[in-house]
Amino acid sequence: MKKIIFLLTIFLYTITFAESPKPPKNIIIMIGDGMGISQVSVSVLTNANSAFKKFPITGFSITCSADKLITDSAAGGTALACGVPTKNGAIGVDEMGKSIPSIFELAKQKNLSTGVVVTSEVTNATPAAFLGHTSNRKNYEILAEQFSLLETDIVIGGGKRYFIPESSGGKRKDNVDLLMKLQEKGYIILNDFENLKKSDSRKYYALLENEALKPATLRNYSLSDLTKKALHALSQNENGFVLMVEGSQIDNGGHDNNQELLLNELNDFENAIQTVLDFAETNKETLVLVTGDHETGGAAITAGDINSENIKIDFASKSHTATMVGVFAYGPQCEIFSGINENYHLGRKLLHLIQTRY
Ligand SMILES: [Zn+2]
Repeated sequence: MKKIIFLLTIFLYTITFAESPKPPKNIIIMIGDGMGISQVSVSVLTNANSAFKKFPITGFSITCSADKLITDSAAGGTALACGVPTKNGAIGVDEMGKSIPSIFELAKQKNLSTGVVVTSEVTNATPAAFLGHTSNRKNYEILAEQFSLLETDIVIGGGKRYFIPESSGGKRKDNVDLLMKLQEKGYIILNDFENLKKSDSRKYYALLENEALKPATLRNYSLSDLTKKALHALSQNENGFVLMVEGSQIDNGGHDNNQELLLNELNDFENAIQTVLDFAETNKETLVLVTGDHETGGAAITAGDINSENIKIDFASKSHTATMVGVFAYGPQCEIFSGINENYHLGRKLLHLIQTRY
């Protein structure tokens, strides 16, 4: 009997104190808008040092929305940001229209810093899914107002027009100046890259264009440059941070069936991935998750030369497709993202990593 009690005690001790894997201190979610397997294949086939080859864990994501085989970026972004399937067009709400807290909101409850870096307007569907809640993705003015009520530390992208009144050349019909309101809350407002480059602030809105940022080849700064600035600011929080980086305009290349635009934007995004991997490699407490919200263009590699950058893409569509997208994970607990996941399961796993922190 004594022996049984002894063994039972050891067993209970073991299951109570067995070390559970430590959640990552920082999480960086990188979304290539419209970046399917063919798009990633171009990088892997033409670049021996492709950043995509450096991830120890890979998998697939099913991108369907709650009501459609083929998703849009609103439902795709919400799946990743909030961990729920929702209808096309819906931002940060479930199928019934109920607001669901995003990973950013949970992170703030745990005193983490949060940030977004995108090349679209910041009110566009993917970043909006992390920062806002509305059943209609086109409610840009409402979304901008919702953003201004949050405590997101770093917001970098385009779309200044939804933050300023019509009387000042903006789009706001309520004539409210949200940038002024943000300033009153202690935010630094930065209007161009030169000022962003010089700034050492840890709390700012850098809205670099009225609309989306220019395509990568027409900018004198890269998504990687913007990501470096965000990492520098966010990593000063000892509790950690959650950062979302989007290569927003890969999607435009797919919609336009424009191979050159697609590959330039993909290259800009891939350089940002390398920057993030370099950070994570040194930091050692950062989980990096790279995926697409959906594929765009029905892209296929139909010709080219082996071991060369000469490659030809044909497109089967001008829209999004339901083809699965790749998942690439690096850092603490990256293994939970392997295999085939529903997109909202990826989001749910990310949320769980925040919820299970101290
Ligand atoms: Zn699209």
